[in-house]
This record gives sequence, structure tokens and C-alpha cells, in this order.
Amino acid sequence: MSVYVSSLCLLSVPYPLLHHDPLHQFPVIRSNKPRLHNTYSLRLIFNAKSSVSSSTITHQRQSLSQTYELFLREIAGFCESNNLNEAFYLLQENSHNAYVKEGMGILLQACGRQKDIEIGKKVHDMVSSSTHFSNDFVLNTRLITMYSMCGSPWDSRRVFDNLKTKNLFQWNALVSGYTRNELYIHALNIFVELVSAKDIKPDNFTLPCVIKACGGIADVDLGYAIHGMAAKSGLIGDVFVGNALIAMYGKCGFVEDMVKVFEVMPERNLVSWNSIISGFSENGFSLESFYLLMEMMGGEEGLVPDVATLVTVLPVCAGEGDVEMGRSVHGLAVKLGLNQELMVNNTLVDMYAKCGCLPEAQILFSKNNNKNVVSWNTIIGAFSMAGDVYQTFYLLRKMQMEGEGMKANEVTVLNVLTICLEKSELQSLKELHGYTLRHGFQNDELVANAFVAAYAKCGSATSAENVFHGMESRTVSSWNALIGGHAQNGDSLKALDYFLQMKFSGLEPDCFTIGSLLLACTHLKSLHFGKEIHGFVLRNGLERDSFIRISLLSLYMHCEKAPSARVLFDAMEDKSLISWNTMIAGYSRNKLPDGTLILFRRMISKGVQPCEITINSVFGACSQLSALRLGKETHCYALKASLTDDIFVACSIIDMYAKCGCIEQSQKIFNRLKDKDAASWNAIIVGYAINGYGKEAIELFENMLALGRKPDSFTFVGILMACNHAGLVEDGLKYFGRMQNSHGVKPKLEHYACVVDMLGRAGQLHDAFKLVDEMPEEPDAGVWSSLLSSCRNYGAFDMGEKVSKKLLELEPDKAENYVLVSNLYAGSEKWDDVRKVRQGMKENGLQKDAGRSWIELGGNVYTFVAGDNMLPESKEIREMWGRLEKKISKIGYKPYTEAVLHELEEEEKINILRGHSEKLAISFGLLKTTKGITLRVCKNLRICVDCHNAAKLISKVVEREIIVRDNKRFHHFRDGFCSCGDYW
Ligand SMILES: [Zn+2]
Ligand SMILES: [Zn+2]
Repeated sequence: MSVYVSSLCLLSVPYPLLHHDPLHQFPVIRSNKPRLHNTYSLRLIFNAKSSVSSSTITHQRQSLSQTYELFLREIAGFCESNNLNEAFYLLQENSHNAYVKEGMGILLQACGRQKDIEIGKKVHDMVSSSTHFSNDFVLNTRLITMYSMCGSPWDSRRVFDNLKTKNLFQWNALVSGYTRNELYIHALNIFVELVSAKDIKPDNFTLPCVIKACGGIADVDLGYAIHGMAAKSGLIGDVFVGNALIAMYGKCGFVEDMVKVFEVMPERNLVSWNSIISGFSENGFSLESFYLLMEMMGGEEGLVPDVATLVTVLPVCAGEGDVEMGRSVHGLAVKLGLNQELMVNNTLVDMYAKCGCLPEAQILFSKNNNKNVVSWNTIIGAFSMAGDVYQTFYLLRKMQMEGEGMKANEVTVLNVLTICLEKSELQSLKELHGYTLRHGFQNDELVANAFVAAYAKCGSATSAENVFHGMESRTVSSWNALIGGHAQNGDSLKALDYFLQMKFSGLEPDCFTIGSLLLACTHLKSLHFGKEIHGFVLRNGLERDSFIRISLLSLYMHCEKAPSARVLFDAMEDKSLISWNTMIAGYSRNKLPDGTLILFRRMISKGVQPCEITINSVFGACSQLSALRLGKETHCYALKASLTDDIFVACSIIDMYAKCGCIEQSQKIFNRLKDKDAASWNAIIVGYAINGYGKEAIELFENMLALGRKPDSFTFVGILMACNHAGLVEDGLKYFGRMQNSHGVKPKLEHYACVVDMLGRAGQLHDAFKLVDEMPEEPDAGVWSSLLSSCRNYGAFDMGEKVSKKLLELEPDKAENYVLVSNLYAGSEKWDDVRKVRQGMKENGLQKDAGRSWIELGGNVYTFVAGDNMLPESKEIREMWGRLEKKISKIGYKPYTEAVLHELEEEEKINILRGHSEKLAISFGLLKTTKGITLRVCKNLRICVDCHNAAKLISKVVEREIIVRDNKRFHHFRDGFCSCGDYW
């Protein structure tokens, strides 16, 4: 993409030479119109003549060359119709005539324009073999210019050095030639020779070339010196000198100096305005370039924007994403009749595409009857950037059918390659590679690197390596393509392996290498290697690179080291939206919702505007906390910030209300959705499922089918979860059976896990076990652990022991699993085994997660840990629980000490039960709220039987609704009952 943009920009800076020809000694046949028109119209006139047979031409030639004027006209005619050979023969035939000199001059100009160095050399031979012309000033000047226009400035230098005497014209031609060929240092050196020469002073043609050279090497000090020289010699008032100074200061980023030159110019032309508009836009002053455009159009000079103006301003609109301004410029182009100009049309297409208005871009493109390769590259690049694989390849094929003149070039290939990210694109990628090989630009380093990366991203490591090893020389960029491609494809180990090979080959990594390595470590969750890279980053001062810093944040977050990420984040001076998002989402992913909310508040207070990604994470955090009030506030905020149109945000809102126990609210949001896609149906079905409303979830599911919506894998997770939570075993089995047979969705592990859990909870342990045997995939720890809980609940000790073994084999490092196993033994009062399991846990250095509960009151979230007596309100909470316990004991509460799985005295067990975190949270909630307010508590583990009993009775004695969300489901306690029907 950037390649063709920069080529457009180059063209957009008008070069004074086009308007400023010092060689006005000849009666050159040309009009004052821009050359593009000129060539076109003249070609039309002379085409007829050149298509006549050669015998007639010879005949005509003899008669036409009788006079000087006719001779010149014919030479010019051949030149304009690209018949340089004919023109040369005509010259040869007339070489004895004195007026042949003018003809040679015209032909040399044409050779330069058409870059025909062969004919140019023949004319050169003619000149140097002639005693009359070999030292002719004018012809030698033309020779110098011809060679430099043909891209051969060293030949220009040869002509220059062979001259016995030189005047300013030859010096100027050489300086200009070097500048034209971007040999800026040479241009400046020859300029120094010029000013040292006697009797020769630079003029208003020399200085613009030299000033341009200063801009080319971005040497503003030298620029100042030339500026001073111009002021001293009085050339500063010349409009071409002024224009060159404006462009030079703009290129060097010295905007103030640029403006100063512009302001004091005694005379300005269109190029002056174009140059300053371009200078402003290049330096990021988009608004200023718009203002200047307006000022120019409303000015006294009566200037009208030309193609150069429009192609300067349109990329500014594109860069700013300001499609409104872009449309105005488009309107202007139509008014000026410039919208059909090829460069303008291409730039318009590019502007609309970059502003996200692909349909407009496409219409403009298709209306263009004069497409060139840039037009095709622009539209292909647009669809590639939008991620539309189908259209990108479709357009590429269409371009190929346009014939010889419209063949895909390096830029096209690079534009298409960026979209090849998936295995499904591998075939197209190979075809494109074949094309590249046939057309011989596989040796282009950028193209080769892009193929390496594309093959790696599409999962073809072998092809990537083949291209890589076929490269003539491998730079850091080539290694980056290989390493980055594999890291992005998720093949992290390969990426790390290539990095070691790269180091071995003696190359040092750069920012891009480091970024890819950090990505690989993030995927691998390899904190060890990640820290080594972090060390490298610090040693090499790369931590200032914002991309690397964000990669580091992401690494620490994925490795569950939120505090380390936070230290890095706090030290960042300029925090971008991406870095805020990385932190906010990271906290949410690490189940640290408090962190998400704190950072979100800080982000808002710092005036950083959140985006859809941010708000999604915040809704996620509210869901994790069941923090309804915060969730509502966030919802309001999102509405005000117009972030709720995004379907993902809408789904997060549905999910948030559902997880706060407000399924009615979820339903309202769902009803209001205009386009209910699969994701939104899934969100609402899962919402009903986790709230235990099995029947409602089934009804929704049937509605979805009736509307012709296709359920996907996630829909079935929802519906099976719903049946599981509501104990609807028969329905659950029915949907599980239909899943593949009627809907063609292959059951995956998570579906089996749901059904196994459902059967286990219903006590159908043998069926559950049988299903585990039938699973096409190896069951994971989740399946075994849910089965183990069921075994314990139903006292199936033998089966439980078998399951325990499987579970600890699969996941020996997880404390939770040991707790489950020890619970099984404790349930059967096998205390020796309990001790053994706990001992094993200790030896592995594992600790049981403490029970934790949250409650949100007045927008603040309070956290309680089981057994914590150190809170400021601990005394009040204990007293509150004492009062509650007394009241519920009167209506039948008895501490269920079996829920305590330690071997302890009865009284100690009761004391442990009193310290359960959900009891602390409920007591605190009742202390801090008034009658009628629903309490919403959230717990990290499953609620125990004792707390469940107590909560039911409390809801009755205090006449409050209490909602507890544990790590599996919801319990709505009301009037002595729970919505789960004691099935959890
Ligand atoms: Zn409990
Ligand atoms: Zn319950």
C-alpha cells in the first residue's frame, strides 16, 4: 500500500523544471498546455502521417524537406508520434544542411522525453563527428539534458567534461541532471565548482535545482546557506526560487521557515500554493492544508486548483479519515472537470477506500475508462486492506485479463500478499507465486520477504523455507518475515527456533524480530524466555518502541503476571489506546475485574476516549463481579459514547445483564437488536441457561430454529448448559442427539463435558461414564473433575477413585484437583487418604484457592476472603451474622458440618462455616443497604451446602432477594427457596 502512495506523493510535488525551460533559443514547436495534453493531441495529428507506407514517406520527404520550416515540422511530427528512428534518418539525409542543427535539438529533446538513449547516442555521434557542431553550446547542453533524462547522468558528465569552454547553460544542465537522478551530493558538489568558477554566477534556474538537492538530503543548514545566497544575489524574489525553498523547508520539517518564505514572496503562482499545501500535509498539519486550499481559491490571484493540488489534498483527507472533506474535494474536482484525470481518479479511489467507503471507491474505479496499473493497485490494495480475500483475488484475476499493458507488478503482488493469512488461501498464494516467478520479480527483496511471511502465515512452513533459502541474500527483514510469519500463525516453537538460527548466522535482532518473539512467548505463556527477551530489550534501549512495550504488557498479562505488566504500564509516558486496552482486557482475562474497573476509571479521567474493545472488557469485568450498578453505568456511558451499535458490544451487554441476574434486561436489549446474528442468539440462550431458566432457553432455541437461523457449536453449548442447570436430562439428551443428526454440528469436548456433568448430577453415573468412553476426543480434566464431584455426591467411591487417578495424571499441578480428590476421601471418612492427598499437594508446592466473594454496593466492589477477620468492619459483620444465625436457627437452620472437609472438632467446624466468604458478603450487604434492595453476591468457588441452606432461610427472615452467582451458576434466593431447586 505505502509503495504506491509514496509514488503518488512524489508526483504530487510539482517540479519547477516542467514550467521553466532555460533553453529558449530554438523555435520549439509546442504549445503552452501541460505536456500530457500536448503529446496526446499532437500524436493524433501525426499518427495519420506515420502510418503511410515508407515509399510514400520517402517521396514526401524529398518534397517536404525543400524548406526549413517543413523539415522542422516533419522532425517534430516524427518525434511526437514516437518515430524517433524515422526522425533520425531524416536528420542523416539532411546532415549537409546548416539547419540540421535545429532538427538535432528537437530530436535530442524527444530522446530525453521518451528515454530512448540508443537514438540519443546516434545523434551524439553525429554531433561529435561534425566539425561544425562538436563544440556547439546549445547542442551540448541538449546532450547533457538528454542523457540525464534517460537516467544516465555519467554520460552527461562525460559530455560536460569534454567541453573546451562552458557557459552557465551547461553547468545548469548538469546540476539539474544530477538532481533529477537524485544524485543530490553530486549536484551540490558541481554547484560548489560552479560558484568557484570565474565569470559564472548561478541564476534563477541553478538555485531551485540546488535547493531541491538540499531537501533531498534533508540538509537544512545547507538550505539556509543557499537561501542566504539567493537573498544576497537578489534572486530571492524569483518565484521558482521561492517555490523550491518552500518545498525544501517542508521536506526538512521546518514548517515555520516554509511559511516565512511563502509570506514574503513578491509573486506566487499555483506551484507556490501546491508546495506549501503539500509541505503542511507532509508534516501532519492537515487542517492547515485545508485552510490554505480555501484561501487559495478565495484569493485575489484567482488561482484554480490543478491536478497537483487535488492529489496533494486528497491523501490528507484519507490520512485523517475525513470523508466529508474528501467529498468536498471530489465535488471540486468535478466542478473543475478534473475528476476524469487519471491521477485524480486514482487518488479519489484511494481516499474513499481509506475512509472506509469501499462502495464509493468501487464505483469510481469502475467508471474510470482509462485505468492504469496504479488504478488497479489502488482498488486491489483497498480490498486487501479491508480483509476481503474473495474480492482481492477476483480483482487480481480481472486485472490479468486486461491485456499486456496492465500486468500486475511488484506493488500489486505486495498488496495481495498482505491478505494471505489463512490456510484456505494457500492455493491462491501458490498461483500468485508462480506468476511472480514467471515474471521475474521474485528477486525483489520486498516481494520475496512478503512471500516468506505469507507462506508461514498460511501454515506452509516448507514453502516459506524454500523461498527463504532461495533468496540471494538474507537480511534481518527476511529473517523477520520467517520468524514473524510463524509467530502469527501460532507456530511459536518454530519461531523461536528460527530466531536461534538467525543469531547463529551472526545477525542481530531488531524491533520487529523482538516483537515477533514476544508474540511467540505470549502464545507459549513462556515467562522464562519472555523475561530473557525483556532483558535484551532493556540492554539495547528498545523499550521506547511503543509496539514492543505493548507486546511486553501482553506477554506479562498472558503469563498471569498482572502486577509486572502494571509496573511497566505505569512507567509508560505516553499511553496509547492500545496499551490501555491491553491492560484493561488483561485484567479481565486474568479474572481480576477490580483491576479492569480501576484502570477504566483512570483512563476516562485522563481524557482517553475508549473504543469498542475497551468497553467490551469493562462489561466483562462487571459480569465477573455481578456488579449490576457498575454494569448499568457502563451501559449508559457506552450509549452516550455511541459504542453500542457494535454487535459484539451488544452481546457483551446481554451477557453482562444475564450474569448480574437481570435476564429481563438482557431480553430487552436482545429484542431491540435490529440484526440478530448467531452471536446474539447465543448470548441470550446462554444467559437463560446460567440463570437456570431451562424451559425459556429451550423456547428461545426453538424460536431461533423457526426463524430459519442456523445454530452453531456455541448455540449447542448454551442449550446443553440450560438443560444441565435445570436438570432437564431428557431434553438435554434429545438435543445432544439432534445436534449432529439434524443440524450437522459435530459435538466437541465442551458439549460432551456438559452432558457428562448433567448425567452425573442427576446420579446417572454409569451413563455418564459410558459417554466418557464414547467420546471421540480424549476427555480433559474438566470432564473428569465434574464426574468426580458427582461420584462424591452420590457416594460412588470406587468409581470416584478411578476418576481421581485419571484427573491427577492429566493435571498434577492444579490445587483444585487435589481438593476434589481429598473431598472424595473425606466424604467416605478415609482420613488417612485425605492426609496423603493433602501431603502430596504440599510437596508439589500447591495451595488451595481461598474462597472469595464480592458484593457491589453504591458502585464500589467489596471483596471478602474466607476466614478474614482483619477487615475494618469485621466486628460489625460478625455481630450481624450472629443475629442472623439466631433468627434462622428458629426456623430450622442447623450448621451442615459435613461441608467442612477437615478432621476437626464439631465446634471448630461450625466456626469455619461462619467464616465462609459468602456469609461475610451477605452480612455486609445487609448492614449497608436498606429494605427492598436485592443483594448480589459473586463467588469464585461453588457455593457449599451450608451457605446454600443459610441463604435460603435468610432470604425468608429478612424478606430480601439474594442472588449468589458461584463459579458454575446462579442462585436466586427468595422467600426460603432457591431458583436452582437445590440442584447445583
Ligand atoms: Zn459455604
Ligand atoms: Zn441454589
